[in-house]
Amino acid sequence: MGKPTGFLEKDRIPATKRPVSERILDYKEIELLPSISETETQASRCMDCGTPFCHNGCPLGNIIPEFNDAVYEGNWKYAYEILSTTNNFPEFTGRICPAPCESSCVLGINKPPVTIELIEKSIIEKAYAEGWVIPNIPAKRTNKKVAVIGSGPAGLAAAAQLNKAGHQVTVFERADQIGGLLRYGIPDFKLDKSTIDRRVNIMTQEGIEFKTNTTIGKDIKIKQLQDDFDAILVSTGSTTPRMINIPGSDAKGIYPAMEFLSQQNKRNANIPLEVNHKGEKYSNDNILATSKNVVVIGGGDTGSDCVGTSNRHKAKSITQIEVMPKPPISRAENTPWPNWPNMLRTSTSHEEGAERFWSISLQEFVKDENGNLKGLIIGDIVLENIEGKIEQKITNIREIPCELALVAAGFLHTDHNDLIEELKLNQVELDERGNVKANHLYQTESQKVFAAGDARRGQSLVVWAISEGREVARNIDKFLMHETKLEGKIVSSFDLN
Ligand SMILES: Cc1cc2nc3c(=O)[nH]c(=O)nc-3n(C[C@H](O)[C@H](O)[C@H](O)COP(=O)(O)OP(=O)(O)OC[C@H]3O[C@@H](n4cnc5c(N)ncnc54)[C@H](O)[C@@H]3O)c2cc1C
Ligand code: SF4
Repeated sequence: MGKPTGFLEKDRIPATKRPVSERILDYKEIELLPSISETETQASRCMDCGTPFCHNGCPLGNIIPEFNDAVYEGNWKYAYEILSTTNNFPEFTGRICPAPCESSCVLGINKPPVTIELIEKSIIEKAYAEGWVIPNIPAKRTNKKVAVIGSGPAGLAAAAQLNKAGHQVTVFERADQIGGLLRYGIPDFKLDKSTIDRRVNIMTQEGIEFKTNTTIGKDIKIKQLQDDFDAILVSTGSTTPRMINIPGSDAKGIYPAMEFLSQQNKRNANIPLEVNHKGEKYSNDNILATSKNVVVIGGGDTGSDCVGTSNRHKAKSITQIEVMPKPPISRAENTPWPNWPNMLRTSTSHEEGAERFWSISLQEFVKDENGNLKGLIIGDIVLENIEGKIEQKITNIREIPCELALVAAGFLHTDHNDLIEELKLNQVELDERGNVKANHLYQTESQKVFAAGDARRGQSLVVWAISEGREVARNIDKFLMHETKLEGKIVSSFDLN
């Protein structure tokens, strides 16, 4: 333990954010990197607990007390080495992870927890700046070939690990850029896309081949991959949106959140808006919130990203509605430490301005005479106790103005497309939610075919995708070589979808 009294002497100082008035004028990252000395001070708050719950809370099993200690001691290179044994991409998790490790930090019982996520980001940025992140080319090749379908964090983590084991890896991606939802879901103001390019460049030098604009199932059939490769990983994500089927849902002006978000990431990168994140033609190639009354349907993170993007478009008004009741301001009693807390979350996008309403039932989309969306009919959901039975009533039914509705009501399953149809013919099954079914070794019913990330577990988090990518790589390596030296997860963690 670096400084036994650190947590008594120093307060938690979270990341400094750019002022709202400045940041809503551009799409640059909101959070600034602290100085080296500030990060070392924050790391001194870690108590090096005998039982470090932070480590258990992290789906990757990051060895947090050790890297905190190394940072406090000023031994940044050692901190980077510790961090990179469990996490292939700390530059992503250090920016956008909801940090379950911090929710389970022991210090969090009666004080603000250690700023673990920010320390992680500082370590990896220092490592890049110092030139410590270099291509790690495997000393020996195995002559085994693995095809990875999908270049999100699950596919990328698996590719990195399998390449490290000496296999020849090809990553196939239907979109025009590598990165999955890191590239075309998460806004640039949360994750600058140069962080993806920087990593993909290293991975390319390590010997991984990337093929974009290639849809497996359409451009290349699974049968072909089965002939050409020794193993196949399906890491295609879970991006079929849950849409809302109520009167008026054919109005012009209602879009899935991803259509809206992916367009803005493309505009920022000066990529023509020809095809969407799925490589398909956009239903409308110019979805803009400018001067419109925007309603974001869904109170989660995707909805919050729509709020931030709408503010940058200079929307007339932004309202976010959610069917669930408003969560408590602080940790709810039914999610005590060290669990992931059920509580109200105010994102950086909410700080920039939006009206938020909970317990709202969306009844109807209202169209004008030309079929354009002009309003939403909503009502408040109230629960009434009628003779001992709880019944739901909708009250205060009203119309609110809306010319752009962004549906962020969650995702159903992986896309049921040609690839899935072909896989089904090859014994691969889907689970009851419509995702790819795989056993505890991430193997499907078709021997050579494995599945990981959102395509297997449903829409989740980047940290889980990386975790599954690493685990499936171990199992593919074992399948190919009958043994594996790839690192495995040290702990089981609290499941956080
Ligand atoms: C708007 C939004 C914001 C989010 N914000 C956060 C956040 O802040 N923090 C967080 O932790 N998580 C966040 N998430 C969730 C997170 O992005 C996902 O859980 C994660 O990206 C899943 O990784 P994956 O590799 O399994 O799949 P994806 O990232 O979905 O990648 C799958 C890839 O497979 C490709 N593909 C699919 N089918 C084919 C095919 N047939 N041929 C070739 N390629 C194919 C897709 O084009 C895609 O690139 C967010 C999600 C969304 C939608
Ligand atoms: S739980 Fe918190 S204080 Fe304890 S080792 Fe982990 S980061 Fe440090």
